[in-house]
Amino acid sequence: MAYVYDPTNIFARILRGEIPNNTVLETDHTLAFRDIQPQAPDHILVIPKGPYVCLDHFAFEASDAELLDFIRTSGEVCRMLGIRPGEAGGGYRAISNAGENGAQEVPHYHLHILAGRPLGRMLNPA
Ligand code: AMP
Repeated sequence: MAYVYDPTNIFARILRGEIPNNTVLETDHTLAFRDIQPQAPDHILVIPKGPYVCLDHFAFEASDAELLDFIRTSGEVCRMLGIRPGEAGGGYRAISNAGENGAQEVPHYHLHILAGRPLGRMLNPA
């Protein structure tokens, strides 16, 4: 299938510097910033700088350098926040929504990293 990326989405605008963000970490290929409506004391969004819609798009079409940088940056965010299992932050949840059933709001691939409180079971009953 052909993926269609909408360059007007809000994360594309953040990447172009058109609107501000609360950056946690930035690399050549990846940006991590705080969610504007946090669902936990720490709620970070990790996004690739390239135009990818969702996880599978990123997985199939990103370069090895982008893929490596994204996952390493995600781990580095966890290390920086001290939320790795066994650290004071006590663990985290990393989730990525995709498409309609995933209730994805912003069509630019992103990983949510949530931490700072017990997060309960992964899914609530529908
Ligand atoms: P999703 O439903 O997985 O697409 O999540 C999109 C997330 O983006 C939500 O948690 C929003 O609170 C967050 N969000 C939307 N606009 C901004 C923004 N300008 N800065 C930071 N986070 C945002």
